[in-house]
Amino acid sequence: MDLSKLFENNQDHSRKKNGSNRKMILKKQIFSILYLESSKTIADLCHPVNVSIPTMTRLMHELINEGWIVELGAGESRGGRKPVFYGLNPFIRYILGIEISRKYTRINIFDLHNRPLGETVQLDIELKNAPEMLQGLKKELDLFIKKKKIDKSKILGAGISIPGLLDKKTNINYSFPNLGNLPLDSMFSELFEIPTFVEHDTKAIALGELWFGLAKNRSNVLCLNIGSGIGLGMIMKGELYQGVSGFSGEFGHIQMVPNGELCDCGKIGCLETVASGTALVSKAKKNISEGTNSIIKKLVDGDTEKIKLPLIIQAAHQGDQFAIELIEESGGYLAQGIAILIHLLNPEMIIIGGDLADAENLLADPIQQKLNKYTINRIRQDTVIHISELKGLAGLLGTIPVVMTNIFSQTPNIINLNHKLVHDTRSN
Ligand SMILES: [Zn+2]
Repeated sequence: MDLSKLFENNQDHSRKKNGSNRKMILKKQIFSILYLESSKTIADLCHPVNVSIPTMTRLMHELINEGWIVELGAGESRGGRKPVFYGLNPFIRYILGIEISRKYTRINIFDLHNRPLGETVQLDIELKNAPEMLQGLKKELDLFIKKKKIDKSKILGAGISIPGLLDKKTNINYSFPNLGNLPLDSMFSELFEIPTFVEHDTKAIALGELWFGLAKNRSNVLCLNIGSGIGLGMIMKGELYQGVSGFSGEFGHIQMVPNGELCDCGKIGCLETVASGTALVSKAKKNISEGTNSIIKKLVDGDTEKIKLPLIIQAAHQGDQFAIELIEESGGYLAQGIAILIHLLNPEMIIIGGDLADAENLLADPIQQKLNKYTINRIRQDTVIHISELKGLAGLLGTIPVVMTNIFSQTPNIINLNHKLVHDTRSN
């Protein structure tokens, strides 16, 4: 059996292939368990895979010979011989992470222990120029993979996090029609020559928080992404909530100010127009040009056009009253929106992420204070508000679960197992 094909779609259903298909499925199950749970003994693996110890021993020997699995050493004895633990060879396959935002794209490669291979690379490629952007991205990716001395065929899959209205039924992004009217996953798979899976940026952040951040081992968590826009990723019953078409979580476009400013979406007075990073920057530009006193002016040498969100946050951390008030005001509007979420969904945790989360308590405190005002005590007490610990890393890390859950779901026996395992891991 050619195990280099362990994670390729096997469409051949002829009878003579059935035996090897079953073996392949069993091996994929072992792979998925060891990927999700790091290390297991042969006896531990028998129950979830539903095979006898001799069969499991045979499968494990094959997987070791083929390089997929390594022996990790002996554990504590439970009365008899010390059990031997096995784990995945982390370098047998890799995951390519691509986080596309409006202004830049970040890339990195992860091993099967989810560790990045060196520094993340940030490319200054703008999403609006899609055709040039795609060719540029392909070139940079090929170069990056070559530099890491990795054979492209060893990349299990690429995960893409992308902003915009991404329809999960068709995989078409309606906000960026210049990406082509093709399903994005097949378009990118063909372009990169790597199986590629696409997820909405805020949902990728929520997956990053669920697998690696504060949402780990939790069931009902809301992840806010406050940057140039305002998005919401919802973890419900331990899983990412999509909605009927994947358009859920457009939190930034609930109306906050009747007769307010025009939003990018075409509506008036959306939360984004008053509380996002973009809104903060335009408020700072306007007020400072009109004479408001702030150290931001000094930070940009008097050129208000140079004002960017990180500078406002920096000024606030330095105690600048104007910058602090801007962030407070944003927190107040956000709290009005979050109060609705708390009353509707009764979440156990709300994680505040995105660029504005760098303001830390200067943002979290006003949100908490205003929530005291806007929410019913009894309901609010169930919900803790936290600034993300992963910060800007959540989106890129979230591309790992985007790839792995898609890979696991290609084998029907694995998807149930995967859900069960993730659940079991949580209850430990
Ligand atoms: Zn809007």
